[in-house]
Amino acid sequence: DDRFASSAIRDLLHHARREDIISLAGGLPAPELLPADHLGLLYTHVLDTVGSQSLQYGVTAGEPALRGLLALEGSGDPDRIVVTSGSQQALDLCLAALRPAHRAAIAVMEEPGYLGALQVLQARTYELSPVPVDQDGLCVDILEDRLRNGLAPTLCYVNPTFQNPTGASLSRERAHALVDLAERYGFIVIADDPYRELYFDEHRPPDQLRDSDMVIRLGSFSKTLAPGLRIGWLDAHQSVVARVERAKQAADLHTSTINQLVVAEAFGDKPWWNNHLDDLRTRYRLRREALSDALTTHLPHATLANQAGGFFWWTRLEGMNTDTFLTTCLEMSSGGGTAFVPGSAFHSGAAPSDHLRLSYSTADPTRFDEAAQRLANAMERAPAGKEGN
Ligand code: PMP
Repeated sequence: DDRFASSAIRDLLHHARREDIISLAGGLPAPELLPADHLGLLYTHVLDTVGSQSLQYGVTAGEPALRGLLALEGSGDPDRIVVTSGSQQALDLCLAALRPAHRAAIAVMEEPGYLGALQVLQARTYELSPVPVDQDGLCVDILEDRLRNGLAPTLCYVNPTFQNPTGASLSRERAHALVDLAERYGFIVIADDPYRELYFDEHRPPDQLRDSDMVIRLGSFSKTLAPGLRIGWLDAHQSVVARVERAKQAADLHTSTINQLVVAEAFGDKPWWNNHLDDLRTRYRLRREALSDALTTHLPHATLANQAGGFFWWTRLEGMNTDTFLTTCLEMSSGGGTAFVPGSAFHSGAAPSDHLRLSYSTADPTRFDEAAQRLANAMERAPAGKEGN
């Protein structure tokens, strides 16, 4: 969600809401894939069966029905689960709970990485140690070198599957090495994994991080059900859960009772749930192919990072400053413009990038061809978009 973009980019992307702009910027679910009718039935069902209790205050860690179902996906222990208002809150509460009180704290962060994570790490006053991400995810060997040289982080944030923005997934070898390092050097790995169910190959990619007291997993129903419900969760060791619960109590007492009960109904109905996820995979796969066809036709020099899941094509226009290019694209008046998120938004520093994140999840796919054509037009008309000009 690009409301979290740095302010300069946020200002620019404000224009992306103009009628004449096709926006490939936001990473929101496709509106037609939000199951409004089914959720309507479930709200009625919950109100009919649970009644006023579904509208009452609840316990901080979450509704037992939902915690139980979520535990079945992982360790089997509901006491490890805290239901949160989206995984963004789960991340924020972890950062609050893990932050040492009277000294600086360092967080290892993926670069490029999820800008909502960058924002909350900064808000919670962590000092960042950015580590590059390549096609196999976080470059764990680089992290290991830094640890050997004395880096002592409190935590390391990873988005291990179909990463936002690159689409990369952390390889099995690196995932193992990362948990080994966390145990040896004493830092927490926060694995924020909202895209793993949205895979386009035959099988769901495995969760590569082995179980460890040093690993916290974050999950979300925002991409699989609906982000407006604001239901996410964390799965962590008891000692973390206790601290997170205190932080959550202070923040908002608990997450919406009725929304949790509705999500438990949807998620607990496995025939419906599996069918729904299959439908999402099929539809997002088609959107992804439609956008890559359009880009290949109109921008043959663009390089697409070929990752089979999630919401984004991470695209490289070699030598192009994509911050400047975004301004040009938004200024295209005749024929309209196309919006995207420039690569620089996913970096902690201000360095320009020749990458851009193009989302196929939100815009009308019948307009992808036109969107790519507009990018090509803007490239032709905008030598100012090239680095150095
Ligand atoms: N983590 C990542 C990697 C995301 O891409 C997003 C949504 N853009 C979130 C977390 C936030 O999800 P939620 O709606 O569950 O807070």
